[in-house]
Amino acid sequence: MAGIPDYFGSMVFDERAMKARLPGKVYHSLKQTVRRGERLDPTVADAVAAAMRDWAVEKGATHFTHWFQPMTNVTAEKHDSFLTPAPDGGVILEFSGKELIQGEPDASSFPSGGLRATFEARGYTAWDPTSYAFLKGKTLCIPTAFCAYGGEALDQKTPLLRSMEAIDRQAMRVLRLFGNAEVSRVTTSVGPEQEYFLIDKDVYGKRRDLIYTGRTLFGAKPPKGQELDDHYFGAIKPRVQAYMEELNEELWKLGIYAKTEHNEVAPAQHELAPIYTTTNLATDQNQLTMEIMQKVAAKHGMVCLLHEKPFAGVNGSGKHNNWSIATDTGVNLLSPGETPHENAQFLLFLVAVIQAVDEYQELLRTSVATAGNDHRLGGNEAPPAVVSIFLGDELTAILEALETDTPYSAAEKTVVKLGVHALPRFARDMTDRNRTSPFAFTGNKFEFRMVGSSQSIATVNTILNTAVAESLRQYADELEGAEDFNAALHALIQKAIAAHKRVIFNGNGYDDAWLREAVDKRGLSELRTTPDCVPSLLKRKNVELLTSHGVFTEGELRSRYEIMLENYSKTVMIEASTMADMARREILPAVAAFAADLAAGAAGKKAIAPTLPCAYEIKLTERLSGLADCIEDKTAALERAMLAVRDTEESVNEAFTIRDVVLPRMAELRAVCDEAETVTARKYWPFPTYGELLFSVR
Ligand code: ADP
Ligand code: MG
Repeated sequence: MAGIPDYFGSMVFDERAMKARLPGKVYHSLKQTVRRGERLDPTVADAVAAAMRDWAVEKGATHFTHWFQPMTNVTAEKHDSFLTPAPDGGVILEFSGKELIQGEPDASSFPSGGLRATFEARGYTAWDPTSYAFLKGKTLCIPTAFCAYGGEALDQKTPLLRSMEAIDRQAMRVLRLFGNAEVSRVTTSVGPEQEYFLIDKDVYGKRRDLIYTGRTLFGAKPPKGQELDDHYFGAIKPRVQAYMEELNEELWKLGIYAKTEHNEVAPAQHELAPIYTTTNLATDQNQLTMEIMQKVAAKHGMVCLLHEKPFAGVNGSGKHNNWSIATDTGVNLLSPGETPHENAQFLLFLVAVIQAVDEYQELLRTSVATAGNDHRLGGNEAPPAVVSIFLGDELTAILEALETDTPYSAAEKTVVKLGVHALPRFARDMTDRNRTSPFAFTGNKFEFRMVGSSQSIATVNTILNTAVAESLRQYADELEGAEDFNAALHALIQKAIAAHKRVIFNGNGYDDAWLREAVDKRGLSELRTTPDCVPSLLKRKNVELLTSHGVFTEGELRSRYEIMLENYSKTVMIEASTMADMARREILPAVAAFAADLAAGAAGKKAIAPTLPCAYEIKLTERLSGLADCIEDKTAALERAMLAVRDTEESVNEAFTIRDVVLPRMAELRAVCDEAETVTARKYWPFPTYGELLFSVR
């Protein structure tokens, strides 16, 4: 077999392919356009399209597609073939610059939140030359942004690209103030750690809840779950090993640096981490990774579950969004430096992030709000629903000393002056390993841990980039006019620390005492559920942030608001009908059948000899009959709750009704059904149990 370096990236039209195949002038023109974010010259587009087609056709491609990321968290594509009839009756393979640059998929069946009236079904896709085209099977996939005919974004990618511009613009202003003349672009990078579950396809196929909703809606706690912590970093089972090997190979071919993989805490749970890259590319690659994870699982007779909480009572899955800002000259701006100058710059970017997270905590929380993630956040294994920042004790102490102009420790005699003194050395704090902080500084990057495993990372990074751009904008405004730069910088950092230190918390984020302190004393917001979050998209302050940096228009925000509420409501309503259906058509008949057989058994015994003991049969028949009646009642109550939702008008009221009326009825129905499961003979139970699901892959 070929070595990894031989096939790594072989399915991507990356820098290497471009350099090798594009005429020098075309290559440079393309690079310039990308760098300056300008419109592409049509002749350049034709040349790039021709080179892409030749490359793809040599590798067996017959079709191309504009690959885009609508507001569904999954990608979309519509394939067109390269084939064009030739006058002599044969065919030629064509792909023009125009086809590369713009496509017009029928947009009517993608969520638009009212942005696109249904009679105007057209939307268009526009090539994103900052990401690489790649091959999937026989199809050349062109990464694109997806917009309505009026130019409004209908996807997750467009706002992300705009936020990359915003942070670049403001960070460049700040860097100029520090005299960094050689830097010409600032970008953010992300390494998303992806958690997932693998279960056997046969057990999956017997659970309609998993098939329809991605999570189990019923299931009594198994005798063994994650209590022994024997799965975490444990030996990987051969079947999973084979899966991971093939997955890596597929990802490597697509130029995705899948690097680490290990078992997670819950049985059947695993994690995959790629090496970080530019946020835009990382977003595309994470979407592809999720798709390929599922495809490869199917080849191995398994199903990859990406839901945030597929199983109650065991850990859910998240996606740790490791985020940093760097210059095109290779400097990580979140990396503490050696010299006073580097340190001052590092501190300014550090407080910019702290301020951004404090000011826009509600937007950050909202960017990860989904029906699925609601089951995870605030559970006792995932970050709480309150956003706070972990800095580690040493860095926190340094910030305190700076704020108050006091020496950082007893050993230090001097007060640190920015731009004059270097920072005291501080060790990377390892206490973040407890993973209870939603937003942790891990040495040279921040790790945002609230993101759900099935979500696109586009939106969360859009918010993060823009919020930090806003801090930087304010700093640049203030410092650009300063007479004494170092003094102004010192004062600015002190002010920022004082104003935003409430968001710093190094303790146990799962602690109830912390949550009370966070909310009651520090005034941090605790948005527990998606309906609580979504209205913050339309709060004046947040609208101003996002519109003033050109990331969203007000109309686009209103559309996101509608789409988020709609997604929430639809998701829970599908779960509710699935539950009612499973209860009526699978669980109740099973419980009744077992009760009937027990009763028949008792009657049979009595027929032989009226004195034969049959307390077991009678007691259990009684209990099962009682449970069956209760299941019937709870199912009817759920059905009534679902009907009540139909009468709700506004989408936000609907979401709240669903949360307050439907979800509690679902929980009640589940509780009785799970109890029934524990007393129903296994052979009667209509679908695989938790034990059978969680330990299905051996
Ligand atoms: P941990 O300490 O959490 O186990 P690692 O240091 O291995 O994690 O990194 C976890 C993820 O963070 C990986 O995807 C890695 O590529 C990414 N990462 C590392 N450095 C950076 C950085 N400067 N910016 C963004 N992501 C980074
Ligand atoms: Mg991590």
